[in-house]
Amino acid sequence: MRLAIKQASLAFIEGEVPVGAVLVMEGKVIAKARNKREMSNDPAGHAEIIALRRGAKKIDNWRLSDATLYVTKEPCIMCAGVMVNARLGRLIYGCRDEKGGAVDSLYELLSDKRLNHQVEVVSGILEAECSEILRRFFQERRGAGAVERGGLENRCGGNSTQGSNPCLSAKKSPG
Ligand SMILES: [Zn+2]
Repeated sequence: MRLAIKQASLAFIEGEVPVGAVLVMEGKVIAKARNKREMSNDPAGHAEIIALRRGAKKIDNWRLSDATLYVTKEPCIMCAGVMVNARLGRLIYGCRDEKGGAVDSLYELLSDKRLNHQVEVVSGILEAECSEILRRFFQERRGAGAVERGGLENRCGGNSTQGSNPCLSAKKSPG
């Protein structure tokens, strides 16, 4: 998760909503990625999707049932959908996204028995750090008087009012 947070930090520097992801298989990192939606103008440019694509390419197999994806924030519907389609083995995420999360918050797609695959989920890992970087990002955006774009807003489900970042409401965890 530390590596995923590092990716999120790099996204922060690049002006992207700071979310990072790392894909691990047999104890080895096979892909790292960060949110690149603004830079790539790609609606699907989320860290999770980029990491899954890179990892699948690397092992030459779209089935990632032996892989674990670490991501700093609860994935959205789109990313959770790709995880099901990739037959991902396990997802470990940091902070919740009460306004956009499709794993525990709004939907529970990864445990939905109607789908042909379920993903094991572990949540709340380094939660405070994962949410802090998002909180700082949105705070700085507001501070700079930047015109927040719809896409950015949606990334963490917030709006421009204080406390809008869903990750802010995440409970502090010891570590
Ligand atoms: Zn997503």
